[in-house]
Amino acid sequence: MSLSRSDFDQYMVPNYAPAAFVPVRGAGSRVWDQEGREYIDLAGGIAVNALGHCHPVLVKALTEQGNTLWHVSNVFTNEPALALAEQLVDATFAERAFFCNSGAEANEAALKLARRAAIELHGERKHKVLSAYNSFHGRTFFTVCVGGQPKYSDGFGPRPAGIEHFDYNDLDSLAALIDDDTAAVIIEPIQGESGVLPASREFLLGARQLCDKHGAYLIFDEVQTGMGRTGHLYAYMEYGVVPDILTSAKSLGGGFPIGAMLTTSALAKYLAVGTHGTTYGGNPLACAVASAAVATINTPEVLGGVLRQHDRVIAGLEAINARHGVFAEMRGRGLLIGAELKAEYAGQAREILAQAALQGLMVLMAGPNVIRLAPSLVVTDADMDEGLARLDRAVAAFLAARG
Ligand SMILES: *Cc1c(COP(=O)(O)O)cnc(C)c1O
Repeated sequence: MSLSRSDFDQYMVPNYAPAAFVPVRGAGSRVWDQEGREYIDLAGGIAVNALGHCHPVLVKALTEQGNTLWHVSNVFTNEPALALAEQLVDATFAERAFFCNSGAEANEAALKLARRAAIELHGERKHKVLSAYNSFHGRTFFTVCVGGQPKYSDGFGPRPAGIEHFDYNDLDSLAALIDDDTAAVIIEPIQGESGVLPASREFLLGARQLCDKHGAYLIFDEVQTGMGRTGHLYAYMEYGVVPDILTSAKSLGGGFPIGAMLTTSALAKYLAVGTHGTTYGGNPLACAVASAAVATINTPEVLGGVLRQHDRVIAGLEAINARHGVFAEMRGRGLLIGAELKAEYAGQAREILAQAALQGLMVLMAGPNVIRLAPSLVVTDADMDEGLARLDRAVAAFLAARG
């Protein structure tokens, strides 16, 4: 069997443009490709591999569950799902959990729950969903339409009705749209995909007050910010603003697909038997891995390590910038960090990513102007230093190539 990147073009739907190399193995924050070349992974599978690659605790949980029980469907419950739900309820504002397989599905459930509850309580008119321009909530048709990026939602025919968009971090813009017909306001505490833009505390607090005033549910999409990414289990904890519904995925499973919607018991009751579901949601394999991930991440050592590593990364990026002067701004929380390119390099994040790959480094973009880092939450100092050294060389090569 000899497979290569060119097989992607031959056999796969062309909706992705994967890198030229093919990873075959990972350990911690290092990955090796088919040629045996080693990479430092500061991309973390897009903020997913929160404990790096093949973390022994997750391998053990997956192996043990793999030898015990894989799948039973929601016609039955199972112990790993119950254990994970209990952990998440104990650790957060929430009293009830719903499990699914991805971030988009968690948001789909959150939006359906909010509309269902609002309509049951107040009638059909109360179904409006408000979301920020440039937000990202997943790729199902409902969630792309709620996400305020026409490039993802255009060209698929008629959209679901009742969705409107406000400017992120602009309370006046939200206040101008929200009314008594609003069922839900959905917000990323840090906009991840569109540039690693943190919300201000005033904005989230103001959104909470506006939702209370108009009887709308506040949904925090913590798919990217959740599970320790910001140095807190969920970002809402640092902001001190509590949503009615919270969605989690990405780092939740540490690399095994799982999503969760968390809410209060008062709200949860509107998803009564038969109103919503998914065959795989709460699958024992996924829940066993996520349960081990939550137990490992939700500790002072790991969360404190994220905050400490944040300062080291920012210092490292500042040192790179002192040498090369390419970044206008560094921002983010914990280990979700964006470095925005100066105007003269706007649109060229992709070129830096390509140079990084040549230097043995995996990093991400967040839009065309921002280099994004979302590494393992337990990345070692040595791996981080080596990754930053490679980024320094990649930036130098990028500048040299421009002449
Ligand atoms: C990645 C992401 C999603 C979508 O998650 P999928 O697992 O790809 O469906 C939704 N919201 C936010 C904030 C994300 O970062």
